[in-house]
Amino acid sequence: MITIVPVYPSLLSIYADRGNVRVLVQRAAWRGIAVRVEPLGLGETLDPARADLILIGGGQDRDQLLVADALRTQTSQLRAAVDDGASILAVCGGFQLLGHRYRGHHGDEMLGTGLVDLETIAGDTRLIGNVLVDCGEGRTMVGFENHAGRTFLGSDTRPLGSVVAGAGNNGADGLEGCRAPGIIGTYVHGPLLPKNPWIADELLARAVARRGGGALAPLDDALELQAAAGAARIARAERR
Ligand code: GLN
Repeated sequence: MITIVPVYPSLLSIYADRGNVRVLVQRAAWRGIAVRVEPLGLGETLDPARADLILIGGGQDRDQLLVADALRTQTSQLRAAVDDGASILAVCGGFQLLGHRYRGHHGDEMLGTGLVDLETIAGDTRLIGNVLVDCGEGRTMVGFENHAGRTFLGSDTRPLGSVVAGAGNNGADGLEGCRAPGIIGTYVHGPLLPKNPWIADELLARAVARRGGGALAPLDDALELQAAAGAARIARAERR
C-alpha cells in the first residue's frame, strides 16, 4: 500500500494538476499496487511516516499567498518524509514554494519552504505555451507552462532538464525545473504525468521501494508516447 498526498488541492491544482494524481493511481492499479489518496488540508499536519508521494500543484498568486505560510509550517515534515524515502512532485506555484521565496506580481513576498536552493521573482509578462525539455539519458518532457515567476536555481541546484522549446524556469538560462534527491520541481502542467509516464514511474518506483516492494512491471505506453510525440511536435512548431 502506498499513500499519495495532494497538498492543499482545493487551492493548488490549476491547469489540470489534479490529473497527475489520477495517472499515479491508475498506473499503480494496472500493476496491482494498492494506493490510498489522502489530501492534506490547510492547517493539517503531514505525517512523514505515512506520505510516500507528495504532490504540490500550481496556483494563482492569490492562492499561493493563502497557502505559503501553512506550507512553510510543514517544512520539517516534508524534509523528514523525503529523507525517509518519500518523494515530492511540485508543479509551478508548488515548485516556486520549494524555494526560499517568491516575490509576486504585486510585490508580495512569500517565503517558501527552502527545501531546494532556488528563488523566484515575478516578471512583467507571463511565460505561456507548450514546452519541450531534454531531461538527459534519452528522456524528454512535454507539457504546458503559464507563469509570471522567473525562477533561478542556486549554483548547486540541478535542473530537471534543458529547454528545447518554451521558456522554462525564467526564459533566459535555458533551464527547466529542479531535481534534488526525492524531489522533482517543474513549471510543466498539462497535466504533466499523462504524457510523461517515465516521471510517474520514477515517483511510483520510489514509493513502492519505500514500502518494500520490487521493481515496477512495465506497461504498454504506446498511447502515452504517441501523445508526447504530438505535444513535442506542437512545441517545436511554436518555438518562441
Ligand atoms: N502564480 C505563479 C506565477 O504566475 C504560478 C502560476 C502557476 O502555478 N501556473 O508564476
